[in-house]
Amino acid sequence: FLKGKTALVTGSTSGIGLAVAGALADAGAAVMINGFGEDGAIAQACADLARRSGAGALHDGADMADAAAIEAMVARCADTLGAPDIVVANAGIQHVAPVDAFPPDMWDKVIAINLSAPFHLMRAALPAMKARGWGRIISTASAHSLVASPYKSAYVAAKHGLAGLTKTAALETARHGVTVNCISPGYVWTPLVEKQIPDTMAARGLTREQVMQDVLLASQPTKAFVTVEQVAAIALFLCRDEAAQVTGANWSVDGGWTAA
Ligand code: NAD
Repeated sequence: FLKGKTALVTGSTSGIGLAVAGALADAGAAVMINGFGEDGAIAQACADLARRSGAGALHDGADMADAAAIEAMVARCADTLGAPDIVVANAGIQHVAPVDAFPPDMWDKVIAINLSAPFHLMRAALPAMKARGWGRIISTASAHSLVASPYKSAYVAAKHGLAGLTKTAALETARHGVTVNCISPGYVWTPLVEKQIPDTMAARGLTREQVMQDVLLASQPTKAFVTVEQVAAIALFLCRDEAAQVTGANWSVDGGWTAA
């Protein structure tokens, strides 16, 4: 149902972004992916996406902390695959430290990548969406757009801000056929999460099962990880015409975390 459409997904060389790019490609969209990684793996991902969509797939290495690079990426997408009909602002980073010891440069970086980048993406992509009368902007927020955890001040502030930006942009585009939403996962099973397990086992003297249940899934009532495919399925639904009246929403997929 996305044949002839173009999607731009940031932070899509791994994890949630890669799964979202795959789901959009399976539905027929040409996809521009973005993020860091090894050249061979990125070329492989593009080839895989192009095979799945039957349309184009390109990578752009724009750093989401760089507003000019974001503008250039959106322009390059328009010149090559077509102006993005779907923008998924997904790239995000975390830094963990108490407020009074939080490095100011890390604060700026977390805010730039997690909050300012979605703003710059919207700024660059909305004019063409409005002109065509159709568009989908989807951001990956977090359960931390709704509740806080200690030592994650910049991330929690950025994700709360992203939920607010989403609502504002939704109101501004409501009469243009454009919807703006965010998805708020709890703990998602990604390579990044898996890699933290051995260190946490060693640091706390816990078993793998204890780290998963008592540390990582402590605030997730289902005691199960969200999968990247479950997040991608929501993003895909938000692109459907049936979702045309879903705008300004913050869709939780967190095993009940924020219901508690
Ligand atoms: P990940 O680390 O697997 O992927 C992050 C992606 O962003 C990678 O492709 C990486 O190369 C890219 N990236 C990082 N910094 C970048 C930059 N400066 N410019 C461009 N690309 C950059 O992470 P993930 O777990 O898939 O997270 C994706 C999003 O989901 C993030 O916004 C994150 O905050 C959010 N999220 C993740 C979880 C979770 O449990 N994994 C939970 C809630 C929300």
